[in-house]
Amino acid sequence: MSEPPQLHSRRTLNLRFDIPISKTKEFWDALKRGKLVTTKCSKCGNITFPPQADCPRCMSSETEWVELGTEATLVTFTHVRVTPASFEGKGPYTIAIAELKDGLKVLAWLEGVDAEKAKPGLKVRVEARASGDGNPYYVFVPA
Ligand SMILES: [Zn+2]
Repeated sequence: MSEPPQLHSRRTLNLRFDIPISKTKEFWDALKRGKLVTTKCSKCGNITFPPQADCPRCMSSETEWVELGTEATLVTFTHVRVTPASFEGKGPYTIAIAELKDGLKVLAWLEGVDAEKAKPGLKVRVEARASGDGNPYYVFVPA
């Protein structure tokens, strides 16, 4: 049997993601001010993170914004040494899940901690940052 003919492409793909944020704009605006906020369902009181336009528990669209504390405890993490193409040039990094005092779990990069010193139970805080193109994001840093 002969191999089927194949076509190989060596082109670089540049992808652009435009993410609509009208229902979560308050979250991004607060982050620019260094605050962490999220949505609380006005009907059943369920608090979600990241913010949700509709309550995943009762499906209500009536939500209000509540401020969260930034102190958290590291739950788990993974060091990424072989980075995906979309993070090429970023070098090794650590992705972590930490639990806020409110009990909500947050996923973010962990910065400012040596890979060997990261341990579950480590006290961290959520810190707001701005990317090179001005978009707000957040990371964990040691408390
Ligand atoms: Zn609800």
